[in-house]
Amino acid sequence: MLSVSKAVDADWRTSLMAKNPAYLPAHVWTVAGLIDAQERVIWSCRKCGAWAQADLLAIQRAKGPDYSLVDRTSRCRVEGCGGTVGFHYGSPARPLKALRERQAAIQGQKEREEMARAKAAYNEVARRLKFPPLP
Ligand SMILES: [Zn+2]
Repeated sequence: MLSVSKAVDADWRTSLMAKNPAYLPAHVWTVAGLIDAQERVIWSCRKCGAWAQADLLAIQRAKGPDYSLVDRTSRCRVEGCGGTVGFHYGSPARPLKALRERQAAIQGQKEREEMARAKAAYNEVARRLKFPPLP
């Protein structure tokens, strides 16, 4: 029983992730993870539109297994283009961009700043009233 409900739960999560292309699954964060999952990764140029399959094994040899293509850009190698190349994975191809992760990091930073401001305000009052300050 338990294993069935776990499988359903996993399916539900997978379908949720599929609906939000900005959310990256864990295995796409490293070159080794992409290779293990046999993901097809392409690079494509925003300027000239050139694209090709990325050689993940060559990237792993040059940069190591933990190298990440997430949010990575590179100069387009098409002669005279000078554009910027980005990476995509899967079929249909989805960008290797951590949009949601970045938004979460920004949100977390805002919350920490708000807490720091609230603590500073509290400690100012505590000092005046001789209450113990927050650490
Ligand atoms: Zn180009």
